[in-house]
Amino acid sequence: MHENQLPATPRRFQMFIDGRWTDGHGNQLTTRHSPGHGTPVAQWPAGTAQDAKDAIRAARTAFDTGPWPRMPAAERAKVLFKVADLIEQNVDELGLIECLETGKPITQAKGEIRGAADVWRFAAGASRSMAGETLNNLGDRLLALVLRQPLGVIGVITPWNFPFFILAERLPFLLAAGCTAVVKPSEATSGTTLRLGELLQQAGLPDGVVNLVSGHGSEVGQVLLDSDLVDMVSVTGSTGTGRKAIQASVGNIKKLGLELGGKNPHVVFADANLDDAADGVAFGMAFNAGQCCVGASRLVVHRSIAEVFTQKLAAKMRRIVVGDPLDPATQVGALFDEAHMHKVLSYIDGGVALGATVVAGGGRTGCEKGNFVQPTLLTNVTAEMPLLRDEIFGPVLAVIPFDTFEDAIRIANDTEFGLSASIWTQDVNLALRAMREVQAGRVWINTTLDNGPEAPMGGMKQSGIGRDAGLAGIEEYTEVKTAHINLQPRTHWIGASDGL
Ligand code: NAD
Repeated sequence: MHENQLPATPRRFQMFIDGRWTDGHGNQLTTRHSPGHGTPVAQWPAGTAQDAKDAIRAARTAFDTGPWPRMPAAERAKVLFKVADLIEQNVDELGLIECLETGKPITQAKGEIRGAADVWRFAAGASRSMAGETLNNLGDRLLALVLRQPLGVIGVITPWNFPFFILAERLPFLLAAGCTAVVKPSEATSGTTLRLGELLQQAGLPDGVVNLVSGHGSEVGQVLLDSDLVDMVSVTGSTGTGRKAIQASVGNIKKLGLELGGKNPHVVFADANLDDAADGVAFGMAFNAGQCCVGASRLVVHRSIAEVFTQKLAAKMRRIVVGDPLDPATQVGALFDEAHMHKVLSYIDGGVALGATVVAGGGRTGCEKGNFVQPTLLTNVTAEMPLLRDEIFGPVLAVIPFDTFEDAIRIANDTEFGLSASIWTQDVNLALRAMREVQAGRVWINTTLDNGPEAPMGGMKQSGIGRDAGLAGIEEYTEVKTAHINLQPRTHWIGASDGL
């Protein structure tokens, strides 16, 4: 058992390329400091472009000539189920790594690891249901088959906020489809991804099927985006990184899966259960210290209840337990790093300087060694304030009152993003109308942040392209091929020539 404590020395990880553990071609190590404590907790190689190329070559060979894409789905499923079991057996260890590197609370971190095992299990079972179509309606002469084939080598680039869980929403799905992969985790939180390599090996995954390369986006990630040997890249990260992926993908017109940023509204109608809604909005804005792509950052509330609801919400927010990520009682941990914390604080200060009012929070909290910010609620916000438009990625919520249903929808959709939205009302018609009108890949009604591997997810507008999870999450990593089969003697296009 691993106790929930800071390590005496940073834990050392290696990269996993073609079934071998390696420090690669570089001689630099990246050291991660715990965002909640300021002490070094982990180290891994800063991978090079050559390491990325070696990994791509291994994944290419494993796809083009290896057993993985060719074996029955049932055999692939056995390996994926084994991985799920191994993840579950190592929840405490993986949870602690995740907590120390990301700054998220230990109970939440362990919950995410358990949740990830469940996602691996879903994908394992679903792999056996991947099917194509038969078109038997083309007349006597023709029969058509629509095959779904594994797409090929997939580059997977992940962010720092949910390193293990986000990987689980992609990797087992592409493996279920029969693809091979090169994974590049965030340079800041690579530990659990690299540790997963050992579990994949233990589960019997053939060498080269999954390769794990730590390193910077501009170095390792860019090679994945540029390579002609990579068939698809799945990028989960900021919209800026998504743009870079689109620009780089022109070389071999590779497929892209993009899960990007959000500026997500919670719409609270006048008839909502205000106590439930206040609790849900507080959870939505503060979960993972607001560093959640689908977290709440705009509160669109009916003017008639705006004052009373804001007060209820502020009271809830003040009671959120922010502090040491290793304390099991902590609900909200530290922000990613000091620079990010100052960026979040500058959005708050910038808003106040332009006339916004702080109703709850507004500044740092906790010990000086950690990057802790109080859950912050702001009213009197205006369109000129960057806090209303940018993805802040911190526990900051802006209140915007509305008067009519149309107003509410217009405000909710008034953003370049379209990732998620939450609607709070007891009127079922209102809820369903709002659900239809709101521009978001994921909508919650009288709840927020619920999820499960059964349901596909992704973004509209500049929040992304493609869908992960659900059966769509396996289809995403397949190529559709159509075959027409002639069942009759051929009617010749060119008449028979004399004597032949
Ligand atoms: P980021 O865009 O800075 O980095 C994401 C990943 O891209 C990292 O692994 C990084 O190294 C890599 N990268 C950066 N530049 C690259 C380049 N030129 N080429 C290739 N790879 C490159 O994002 P982040 O700060 O790690 O994560 C936070 C962002 O991720 C937020 O915008 C958040 O909304 C988004 N996010 C989206 C989802 C979703 O499902 N939509 C989920 C989680 C996070």
